[in-house]
Amino acid sequence: MTTSAPVTAATATTAPTRTSRAHGRTGFQRVQMRGVSRRYGRTPALMDLDLELARGEFVALLGPSGCGKSTALACLAGLQPLSGGSIWRDEERIDTLRPERRGFGMVFQNYALFPHLTVRRNVEFGLAMRRVPRPVRRERAMEALELVQLRDHAEKLPAQLSGGQQQRVAIARALAIDPELILMDEPLSNLDAALRVEMRTEIKRLYQERDLTVLYVTHDQEEALSLATRLVVLRAGRLEQTGTPEQVYTQPASAYVASFMGYRNLFPARVAGAADAGRAVVTTADLMLEGTVQTPAVLPSGAEVTVAMRPEDLAVTADGSGLRALAEVVEYHGRELSVRVRTEQGVVLHVRTDRPVRAGETLGLAIAPERVLVYPGAGEQREAGRERDE
Ligand code: ADP
Repeated sequence: MTTSAPVTAATATTAPTRTSRAHGRTGFQRVQMRGVSRRYGRTPALMDLDLELARGEFVALLGPSGCGKSTALACLAGLQPLSGGSIWRDEERIDTLRPERRGFGMVFQNYALFPHLTVRRNVEFGLAMRRVPRPVRRERAMEALELVQLRDHAEKLPAQLSGGQQQRVAIARALAIDPELILMDEPLSNLDAALRVEMRTEIKRLYQERDLTVLYVTHDQEEALSLATRLVVLRAGRLEQTGTPEQVYTQPASAYVASFMGYRNLFPARVAGAADAGRAVVTTADLMLEGTVQTPAVLPSGAEVTVAMRPEDLAVTADGSGLRALAEVVEYHGRELSVRVRTEQGVVLHVRTDRPVRAGETLGLAIAPERVLVYPGAGEQREAGRERDE
């Protein structure tokens, strides 16, 4: 049977709305991973990871493929055993509890729906696992489907729904158990670009309306920045930086983090003249730039560094003053142009501008020294650069 349940507008709008505490959320203050390690054979996936989630936070776990994001989520969920460390909900140690006893909802990239069960029965499944009585299950499944606007599709099979709708079913299934914490692993990456943006807004709406706490795994900086209240950037199984989206966006702790935050101009250079935490002149291929050193350490003259600049921080000057560069490739982006330029010294840079620039034109470029980020060590960007989403 695949006909929709006859739900009238009246019954839909009078469906019981529950308060977020109604089904027994105990109201944790924080969930903590303390010194968590996880090895697969001899491959270390997580190393001594401390991660804390306070109630009400939306934390995005960000980093390139293979940095340990999914493993961290699976350890929290209880789907992977720990090789070391512990997990706590307030004062209670929970890494010894079975997954369904932890009270967390999960949403995966591949939806993980049962194809032979109706949408409603898929949503009821997690409740059945938790031994919720049958009539209550049905009611709560329908409430959850209402939240994701799929009530009218309750009796369909997953295959009769679009990808976006299937992912909403998966979200409804996670919400139905009224979880203290929802763990989402790249939930939007199987959707096309337009749907991804729509579902992003939907997830944010649910987060705001339902007083949720979310840990969200992604390799997409835009998704992380737009959704999260806090970012956690992982690097090879360790925590590299955490902070608000604004902190991480404007002050990436390393060139590695910068490469995720839209600092598309990343290149090795050398310090010309000693520099401490402050301004430094750096050179690459005879190009000299004044930048800001991002470490308290003193960098001696000649030290290898990595320079990070955002395309939108490079300004095309009105009078052609500044750094001379030839516009090689111009891409149209509506309000702005994305321009690949080559400086007189042969350095390729990416610039975003709202000025009318044509390929073949020679431009003058300017950038404020505080927007030229200088990190110690060369070649640091490569690890992340390979994987980052541009
Ligand atoms: P991410 O989610 O950031 O892409 P993962 O947590 O999936 O990273 O993987 C972290 C590391 O652990 C990688 O080196 C990966 O190859 C390895 N790994 C992940 N799952 C397994 C597994 N089931 N068996 C062996 N190695 C694994």
